[in-house]
Amino acid sequence: MCPPFRCHFCGRLITDAQKTFIAWNDSYKSKLLDPVIVCGADRCDRLADCYPLTMQLDTAFVYLLNNSGMTPAKLNQAAEHAALLDSILT
Ligand SMILES: [Zn+2]
Repeated sequence: MCPPFRCHFCGRLITDAQKTFIAWNDSYKSKLLDPVIVCGADRCDRLADCYPLTMQLDTAFVYLLNNSGMTPAKLNQAAEHAALLDSILT
């Protein structure tokens, strides 16, 4: 099983990608701010204000999958592989 995401600020386990967002710096050359996962709680949202760019996590997954060459067919294969791993490891 893959480790779950946790909020960068409060440590809460992320269980709903539609209520969560990813935040990052707009400069790929900057090493000051790496992408972080933010749970969406008001306190954490305010702490993430230092990141100029944000995106809802479920939408970011689509971009990340596309960026990594995943097609719908490859995604189905990966889902089958994950289900197989779950059946073996649980
Ligand atoms: Zn949080």
